[in-house]
Amino acid sequence: MSKMITKKINDFFTYKNKILFVEDVSVIDISKRINTPFYIYSTASLRRRYTQLSKSLKNINHSLYFSVKSNSNLAVLRVLSLLGSGMDVVSGGEYLRAQKAGVPGDKIVFSGVGKTYDEIKLALSNGIRQFNVESIPEIKLINKIAANTGKKAPISIRVNPDVDAQTHEKIMTGKLENKFGIPINSALEVYRIASELNSIKIVGIDLHIGSQITDILPFETAFLKIANFIKKLREEGHFIDRVDIGGGLGISYSTKEKDPISIDKFSSMLDKTFNKMNLEIQLEPGRFISGNSGLLITSVVYLKEGTNKNFLIIDAGMNDLLRPAIYDAEHEILPVIEEKNNHNQIVADIVGPICESSDVFSKNTTLPKMTSGDFLAIYSAGAYGAVMSSEYNSRPLIPELIVNENLVSVVRSRPKIEDVIKRDQIPYWLR
Ligand code: PLP
Repeated sequence: MSKMITKKINDFFTYKNKILFVEDVSVIDISKRINTPFYIYSTASLRRRYTQLSKSLKNINHSLYFSVKSNSNLAVLRVLSLLGSGMDVVSGGEYLRAQKAGVPGDKIVFSGVGKTYDEIKLALSNGIRQFNVESIPEIKLINKIAANTGKKAPISIRVNPDVDAQTHEKIMTGKLENKFGIPINSALEVYRIASELNSIKIVGIDLHIGSQITDILPFETAFLKIANFIKKLREEGHFIDRVDIGGGLGISYSTKEKDPISIDKFSSMLDKTFNKMNLEIQLEPGRFISGNSGLLITSVVYLKEGTNKNFLIIDAGMNDLLRPAIYDAEHEILPVIEEKNNHNQIVADIVGPICESSDVFSKNTTLPKMTSGDFLAIYSAGAYGAVMSSEYNSRPLIPELIVNENLVSVVRSRPKIEDVIKRDQIPYWLR
């Protein structure tokens, strides 16, 4: 028997005899059974990222609330809930998903700038750890609904610290021009107003300055501002025993780079900033846990060779993975079968089939010459991938799969196009 040659990308994604594996499952074997494109997640990776983070915070009184918006697949939520994770949700739908995955209401925090009457009522009736509230009208509505149900609603007020997170402008949330939170200079007054409402119980403070943050400094600046503000709140007699610091930890989108922020350094910074303040520190990590735990598997439709440019057209499009089109995100793209030699290389843009010029995954990429049917894997696709996908161009949502060692399960199946079309109706007066 010939010897297996193994080349690790990391502990969960490996080339074995030049074929890409997710844990112990060959991507080629799956791709023969399930049509591309599809998402595939590694259970072991989700577990590792969660435990890595919680271990690095072990000296701090903390709790973790996975940000469901980054990946809301029930199987993913279940993996994390079995580890004891709470969930951060931003809609009634996400709240119900968290519950379905087995997360009790007292481990769910509800964020978001536009919670509706029905969403607030749902969370209050089924149980909630806290609402992260963002405006006076929202606080008043929560108070009214809580009064009607005879409950006291636990709230943390999201404060906007006016700090530049130095990330892509479309995922920056902590500057005053962003719609999020109450400006730090007016937040004291909002605490006063909230404390006078009978059905509101203030439990803490909340912030979230942005996502895919790659430098520790903006975090530190924001947390210092919040720590000082908590002192002021306590002097005024407000009860604050939790600070929810949101998510935002950046990841690498290349197999060649490590996480941009060391979580041990992040943890020490947190400890120092909120030192001896007797606070529970809540985190809402999304991307950090799910991002590097998933791949998008796609195949080549055509290689279109031109005089000016070559295009490798793949069967995944911006409707399946939106990040490159809206955030200029660059995900490393890996071959599913590693080429034996790299003699026959081309330079091409890797593009999707959608009729939009922004449907581009990478530009001027040097890659082995590929032909129709060859498989590729888009790296770091576990966060803000499947959740942001759409049926644009009438392409049904693509399947999601999850691997656990040598087991692989489809955890969201591809709808039939007939069923997608059937959702529309021609009214009787057009028949
Ligand atoms: N919490 C809130 C309120 C968010 O809006 C987000 C995402 O932007 C997160 C947590 C998760 O962020 P990330 O995936 O960057 O950790």
